[in-house]
Amino acid sequence: MATTKTTANSTKSTPVAKKTTAAKSTTKPAAAKNTAAKSSTATKSTSSRGIVKAKASAAEGLKELFVDSLKDIYWAEKALIKALPKMAKNAENENLVAGLNNHTAETEEQIARLEQVFQIIGEKAVAKKCEAMDGLLKEGQEIMESTEPGPVRDAGIIAASQKVEHYEIATYGTLCAFAKTLGYDDAAELLHTTLEEEKQADITLTEAAYNTINFDAAEADEDDENEAE
Ligand code: FE
Ligand code: FE
Ligand code: ZN
Ligand code: FE
Repeated sequence: MATTKTTANSTKSTPVAKKTTAAKSTTKPAAAKNTAAKSSTATKSTSSRGIVKAKASAAEGLKELFVDSLKDIYWAEKALIKALPKMAKNAENENLVAGLNNHTAETEEQIARLEQVFQIIGEKAVAKKCEAMDGLLKEGQEIMESTEPGPVRDAGIIAASQKVEHYEIATYGTLCAFAKTLGYDDAAELLHTTLEEEKQADITLTEAAYNTINFDAAEADEDDENEAE
């Protein structure tokens, strides 16, 4: 399994220009007025120094962050249970269709598992909109709209679904770690089971792409070229 290496770049922080108060006191009244106007137009949730301001409902401990993240993925899985059959309907390759249908069934179990996790930790199962999944699914829709049904659309569906699976893998990996840290071993076990399913779904999609779909899609390119000649 590949480990993530932090690049030298990621540790490099951009130097921020230091604002000296001494400089401020020497500025003319007109210039000072200008700065004041600028800072008032800054985004509400972000301070002038880039620090995001927390909402009143912000999580105070890891438990709360864990619960918030569970609500987020609970929404995401519920959105997927509707989106996956739609993708399967648009796919032509039978391996891909079978893979998507199989993962729809798994997603149903994953939702049930999340409900068990909520129960274990004594919280109500509530879904909170996951902006990331919403965006990924919109992108999937866009990919389908921009491709003709057949191998090219199939390749696009694989690309979109793999982005979804990778988001889920990252999420369940984190949730699993949070559960372990908080001492919810049974919850961690359930989340781990789902994590493994998401990894397998990703592998299945890769195999479907490499076995035939990408080659068929590339052939469609050649056909286009031949027709043009
Ligand atoms: Fe899932
Ligand atoms: Fe999310
Ligand atoms: Zn795990
Ligand atoms: Fe999944």
